[in-house]
Amino acid sequence: MPSLALRQDCTGCGACAYRCPKHCIHMEADKIGVAYPRIDDSACVDCCVCEKVCPIITPSLLMETRKCYAAWNNDKDERSTSASGGIAIAIYQEALINGMVAIGASQNADWTVTHKVVKTPQELTPLKNSKYTFSSALEVYPRIQELLKVGKSIVMVGLPCQIAAVRSLFGEHTSLFLIDIVCHGSTPTLYLQQHIQSLEKMIGEKANRMSFRSPEKGTENYFFTLYNNRDEIIYAKRSIDGDSYNIGFHRAISYRENCYHCRFACPERVSDITLGDYHGLGKEKPCSYSEKKVSTILIHTNKGQQLVDSLITKGIIFAEERPISESVNGDAQLRRPSPKTASRYDFEKYISNYQGDFERAMGRVINMNRYRENRQRIKETPQRLIRKIMNLIRLDYIK
Ligand SMILES: Cc1cc2nc3c(=O)[nH]c(=O)nc-3n(C[C@H](O)[C@H](O)[C@H](O)COP(=O)(O)OP(=O)(O)OC[C@H]3O[C@@H](n4cnc5c(N)ncnc54)[C@H](O)[C@@H]3O)c2cc1C
Repeated sequence: MPSLALRQDCTGCGACAYRCPKHCIHMEADKIGVAYPRIDDSACVDCCVCEKVCPIITPSLLMETRKCYAAWNNDKDERSTSASGGIAIAIYQEALINGMVAIGASQNADWTVTHKVVKTPQELTPLKNSKYTFSSALEVYPRIQELLKVGKSIVMVGLPCQIAAVRSLFGEHTSLFLIDIVCHGSTPTLYLQQHIQSLEKMIGEKANRMSFRSPEKGTENYFFTLYNNRDEIIYAKRSIDGDSYNIGFHRAISYRENCYHCRFACPERVSDITLGDYHGLGKEKPCSYSEKKVSTILIHTNKGQQLVDSLITKGIIFAEERPISESVNGDAQLRRPSPKTASRYDFEKYISNYQGDFERAMGRVINMNRYRENRQRIKETPQRLIRKIMNLIRLDYIK
């Protein structure tokens, strides 16, 4: 019997299920909606193809970062409605102009996120902006196979683990341009569905669409936003306003388990290009522009360099070369996976105790956090008082 990736490492990419020649592996959601592969022992013929295409068991070659750019889309509208600098949409548009096919993640009516194949510019809008939840690329694997067979070139943007799966399945193909995004983890979609349901109940209105980084509120402010069917904002909150989904996501509390053991959170990548928010801009080299809505572009291959060069030459994007270390030192996710914190351990306990009830579990985590912060504050009070008194004495002495 083949042995698939350990549960703590499995990314749910489904490469094993897709490639199994006997179709005896299927993805099955556990009680908190997290999908893992399951082998039907009675049909398995022990060919172990699943092990060979698993990006965890048989990892693809990681490529060094050759160049780093700070960049943004020169089209103001595209930049303001994208999560960061709007580089992904520029790449998709350029791909379509050149007769290629674009593949990216879009959100469905039930709030799940799946990768879609896009052939016309009109279909591109849903791919824009970040969806901070688990996404499935399983449906596009057969499409990639067909498209490559008929000689089509493809540009795909996805999470590092998804891009690693596509690399494992289709190898280093000249017609395949793979772009991964810097990622600190993804949250099971069941949590998102529960959160929206509870907000709808509280507001008394149905949400028609949502945004994790609302353009109306400034995408750099990370507002979790719900819109009604007249496209009016009916809810908009950040982590500091107490939105439980945002707290779970941005404080690395509610991810799939494998995100805390991610093998792809490092400067070497399986992709041609990596995109992210440019954190740490100006820290290692002076910078004359605002750091708001600036993307980082990391180049790993000649193919990736050519694609970015054509966007720069045509004036579609602004890009300035910066030290690679500035970007890598600026974003921990380019060096290591999100660490498990005390809050994560609390969440694991509560989500299991409350049988997958996200709001109840996060409510307890938030209370525990408050308790810990207060305890710390009380612990530090004598030292703070002593410091204050010493300062007063020193001031009196100087006078
Ligand atoms: C789960 C997640 C975690 C992230 N963590 C970080 C981080 O720690 N640091 C950082 O710098 N950047 C992170 N990003 C990336 C960041 O949010 C921006 O997407 C990135 O900077 C590119 O910005 P953009 O304006 O060029 O494109 P965007 O308009 O943001 O488009 C990015 C593309 O990514 C794809 N995408 C969006 N959501 C998903 C998803 N759930 N699964 C797969 N593909 C998706 C879409 O195809 C989209 O076109 C994360 C993104 C996601 C989805």
